[in-house]
Amino acid sequence: MRAQQVRAGFVELYGTEPEGVWSAPGRVNLIGEHTDYNDGFVMPFALPHTAIAAVSRRDDGVLRLHSADIEDGVAELRLDDLVPESDRAWTAYPAGVVWALREAGHAVTGADIHVTSTVPSGAGLSSSAALEVVVALALNDLYELGLPGWQLARLCQRAENVYVGAPTGIMDQTASACCEEGHALFLDTRDLSQKQIPFDLAAEGMRLLVVDTQVKHSHSEGEYGKRRAGCERGAALLGVDALRDIPYADLDAALARLGDDEEAVRLVRHVVTEDERVEKVVALLESGETRAIGPVLVAGHASLRDDFRISCPELDLVVDTAMSAGALGSRMTGGGFGGSAIVLADVADVDTITKAVEEAFAAAGFTAPRVFEAVPSPGARRLV
Ligand code: ADP
Ligand code: MG
Repeated sequence: MRAQQVRAGFVELYGTEPEGVWSAPGRVNLIGEHTDYNDGFVMPFALPHTAIAAVSRRDDGVLRLHSADIEDGVAELRLDDLVPESDRAWTAYPAGVVWALREAGHAVTGADIHVTSTVPSGAGLSSSAALEVVVALALNDLYELGLPGWQLARLCQRAENVYVGAPTGIMDQTASACCEEGHALFLDTRDLSQKQIPFDLAAEGMRLLVVDTQVKHSHSEGEYGKRRAGCERGAALLGVDALRDIPYADLDAALARLGDDEEAVRLVRHVVTEDERVEKVVALLESGETRAIGPVLVAGHASLRDDFRISCPELDLVVDTAMSAGALGSRMTGGGFGGSAIVLADVADVDTITKAVEEAFAAAGFTAPRVFEAVPSPGARRLV
């Protein structure tokens, strides 16, 4: 249905049928926060919310871009003019993907692209990765590049880091490109090895809610950089390449070596225990003990709040209220300082929890949150 609308939109804009239509999802991270730049583990799953793109090739070195969600006409760019960090508009994401493909030696000679997305933008659900990956997959298919999902993800990350100029890890793009329906994706961000972990909540009478707080505190980007630098400092103090190299069993000894360097202690403790929590969640899901991941999610939130210090009153209120209202588990997800939290709950408790969170936000004078159910959904694919 949406594919047909996007196809029709393309015809209206460009006057011809697109060669195909593709989709790529946003994601939420079940567990494994701020571990990706420490070479650690993450565990995202794909949302039912997707970016959809209708695309055709061109052979004249021109890239035409249009988003149904942005009040703007068709942008027309020349491939030879694409320069990193030269574009501050949304077009930098798809143009960056084309730039990254060409820079890697792939003969992409132009494209007409029309996109639309249901992934909420700026909510920590990776609308940017969905946009990049849908374009990358379309060009991979049309130009017969034969690149596997993990490699498309790498090129999309490069597009975002270098062309757009936004520092992000590899999780978002890999999730969008590689996730599978009914599964969460266990990803080792050091070697990019991955494993699909069964995560079929509906079959077990559970639901996972995403609560988008609709706030983004303005200092979030600076704080991201500080945490990243702090983790690198911690690794250097401990003489390892990345905090991933500290085994959980050696944590106490490592913390003792950091002595009274309170900041390093907090950051190292979060990253090392978070990697351990990811492995615990994988083990629980693989042995069918889905309910038992609840407390692990809550412990993860406490670590992000108290040790990593990237939560905020809105996120804490979601977690505290949901847990008091009977949730099995809850945590902030994404970069922090706003964005979204997740709540794991039995089906029977979903309405009570949702109402409790909405009432708590109203009572605190916060903007009303957006609450929706997240069913583990398919990764990027061709629709038409
Ligand atoms: P997040 O990835 O968490 O949603 P980002 O700031 O990384 O937030 O990416 C959001 C940006 O991605 C938007 O500002 C816009 O430039 C681009 N974007 C996302 N969705 C769309 C869309 N449907 N159309 C055009 N641009 C989009
Ligand atoms: Mg993003």
